Amino acid sequence: MFQVYTCLTRAHDFRLVVLAALVCLLTASTAMGLLRRLSKVEGASRLGWLITAAAVTGEGVWATHFVAMLAFRPGLHTGYDLAETLMSLVVAIGLFGIGFQISHTRRMPARSWIGGAFVGGAVGAMHYLGMAAFRIEGELLWDPGLVALSLGLGTTFSALAFAIQQDEPRLRGRIAAILSLTLGICGLHFTGMGAVTILPDASVHLPPTVIPTDFLAVWVAGGAAALLLLSAVALSVEHQQRRGEQRRMRELADAAVEGLAICDDAIITTANASLARMIGLPATDLVGQPFASLFLDAAVSDRADLEHGHRLERHLQGAEGERVPVELIAQKMSFDGQARLGVAVRDLRDRVAAETQIRFLAHHDGLTQLPNRARFHEQLNLELQRHRRRDDGFAVLCLDLDRFKQVNDVFGHAAGDLVLSEVATRISRTLGDEDFLARLGGDEFAIIRLAPCRPADLAALCGAIIDAIAPEIALDAQTTLVGVSIGIALYPSDGDTAATLVRNADAALYRAKEDGRGVYRFFEAALGAQMRERLALEFDLRHALVRNELKVVYQPQSSLISQEVFGFEALVRWNHRTRGAVPPADFIPVAEETGLIMPIGDWVLREACAEAASWPNPLQMAVNLSAVQLRSPTLPRRVHEILLETGLAAERLELEVTETALIEDFNQALHTLRQLKALGVKIAMDDFGTGYSSLSNLRAFPFDKIKIDQSFIRHVHDNAQAATIVRAILGLGRGLNLKVLAEGVETAEELAFLRQELCGEAQGYLFGRPGDIDDFASLVGRNLAPDRHDRPFQAQGA
Ligand code: C2E
Ligand code: MG
Ligand code: MG
Repeated sequence: MFQVYTCLTRAHDFRLVVLAALVCLLTASTAMGLLRRLSKVEGASRLGWLITAAAVTGEGVWATHFVAMLAFRPGLHTGYDLAETLMSLVVAIGLFGIGFQISHTRRMPARSWIGGAFVGGAVGAMHYLGMAAFRIEGELLWDPGLVALSLGLGTTFSALAFAIQQDEPRLRGRIAAILSLTLGICGLHFTGMGAVTILPDASVHLPPTVIPTDFLAVWVAGGAAALLLLSAVALSVEHQQRRGEQRRMRELADAAVEGLAICDDAIITTANASLARMIGLPATDLVGQPFASLFLDAAVSDRADLEHGHRLERHLQGAEGERVPVELIAQKMSFDGQARLGVAVRDLRDRVAAETQIRFLAHHDGLTQLPNRARFHEQLNLELQRHRRRDDGFAVLCLDLDRFKQVNDVFGHAAGDLVLSEVATRISRTLGDEDFLARLGGDEFAIIRLAPCRPADLAALCGAIIDAIAPEIALDAQTTLVGVSIGIALYPSDGDTAATLVRNADAALYRAKEDGRGVYRFFEAALGAQMRERLALEFDLRHALVRNELKVVYQPQSSLISQEVFGFEALVRWNHRTRGAVPPADFIPVAEETGLIMPIGDWVLREACAEAASWPNPLQMAVNLSAVQLRSPTLPRRVHEILLETGLAAERLELEVTETALIEDFNQALHTLRQLKALGVKIAMDDFGTGYSSLSNLRAFPFDKIKIDQSFIRHVHDNAQAATIVRAILGLGRGLNLKVLAEGVETAEELAFLRQELCGEAQGYLFGRPGDIDDFASLVGRNLAPDRHDRPFQAQGA
């Protein structure tokens, strides 16, 4: 090393050494710039850039060598052999070209290191070939150790320069690479010069063909400087253009709503502003990071999946530390001339929020926000699975509000909604954390209670719920009262499937309702039998019409003034082949719930009208209409058709409706009744006094008659309360100019009271039980069979 040092300090002009170093620095910088450029171009233009890089670098290194040689002052005449000198240039350019190509050979392991080392070797080849062209008046002796060291320095720093350039694309990397290459070239040169010892030999003369060192050095250096300068300018212009292009690309990318990252080998080389915003870091900080490091749940296979065009859903850590769900969509692309993977990072927060909302809506009731029926069954099945494994019990409670329908009818649906929300809140307050409350629909709720589930605990819970619902509920202007009935079924004693548990809890609820509402009932096996019986009844009823099991019986209606039978009420009967006579009170509600009331009702109407039309005496025919029938908008048309079909005059038909039927849909009912009225049909209000008995209903509907419910007629003569009510209804009828008929008159005392109170019409066992029309043949003017009954009155006009 000392030799190198003394060579530098004694045998060199230091100012020219500095100049050589500067030329070298410029060369290294240009070489690295060209190298970077080379890494970014593909196709035909790549060869052009490769040749340019090789030529410029070769020329630069060559110039460095000659300027350094100019600095070398051995104190003897020196010169160069032109051919050999040019040879060293050609060899250098060729070898640099090969070195650059190696460093850019894809899929070659350690390509930068090998290419860099090769370039270092090329510098060495250039140097020693250049030295071979060197002519001096003496002999050159070489120190092989230093020669080896010089080559070692050249290849090592050159390889290092290429490696840094590849691994660290940022400015500091570039500077380090340039310095390393400069060090490699200069180190090689000056160590190589230190390896030379000149033995002056007076007998050696420079041949006349040699070019003097000064002359050559100046021209070489000048030419090289010009070339370097030109390529530096070209690179800079090109660089500016690319910067402009990149800026436009970046602006475009930043304008994108989605996050974008360009990756090279899974390392982020570019990220847009949206991605940076999502993560909460400046985009520049993302550059150089492994793409996978952005995600909380990245998998090893992600990269392969993305490259195959698969969409992935992952989570990244958001700006505020939150988990941000994102979708990754990748596309292989050429970015800045290089093959890259562009990955779009789509923020899924809005979509996930919408999905969550939809899932919530699918499983919850919009009004009370409670889980809905579907969710309830899901949970029930889950509990069944769990409890089967654990072998312990739980309870299912079915709840149904009492008087809720009336609230809806009287105060409107908005008030009904208010009541349901309030009830849901009140029930929730009585429950523990483990209890699961759901709204099954309408005014039905259900609870899954996990523990404690002893009867006493459940009784306490039900008591608490009933008490919670009992207080008045404030509506907008008024308050209202509802109650709740509860049925309880226990797992496993009352059922071990979701369906049986719910069915049995329902059966218990049904019993609670029957037992006067506002109470709770545990399921008992007998209830299950009742439910099954009801289902069987429903099944049989479906076949009753086709099996001809239905028939119509008729009960006379009499005038207390003319003392004549003026008409009949048609009453349906079901004569079941095994059950025998099933009372309408048992099967009409089933028919109403199942919708069977529509065909049955039409059939009764047709039978009754046809029957009345066939009588010689034009007596009245009263037919009952169910609330379900009244709700049907096609009812007036069907009544009209049946009248035309049977030929019965409309004014002979009276339709009986109950007040409850009106309440269900006031406007629809009013509309239908008006249409019926327009046909000429009469309308009677049946069972008056048992429903709402609202004066406003009587005013609003075009009734022709009020039928006082039989419960008021029973013992009316010795029951002061009933008597008051009957008197009031009779007064109402007179006031509104409506006929009043007393139902269920059984005794002479009842009749006497009604007469005394000037009741106009009556119906009941006293006048005749419902029976076959043949029983009343003389009343209708047919005289088919003698009237077997001892009746107080004869038929009108008979
Ligand atoms: P409703 O319309 O009030 O019919 C009067 C009911 O009282 C009939 O019972 C009748 O048999 C009974 N009844 C008549 N006089 C007396 C009496 O003096 N004492 C007693 N204890 N009862 C008397 P039924 O036939 O069992 O009908 C019960 C209810 O079933 C009817 O009440 C009516 O609401 C409904 N219903 C009957 N037939 C039909 C029908 O064809 N269609 C519809 N929608 N409902 C019907
Ligand atoms: Mg009736
Ligand atoms: Mg009645």
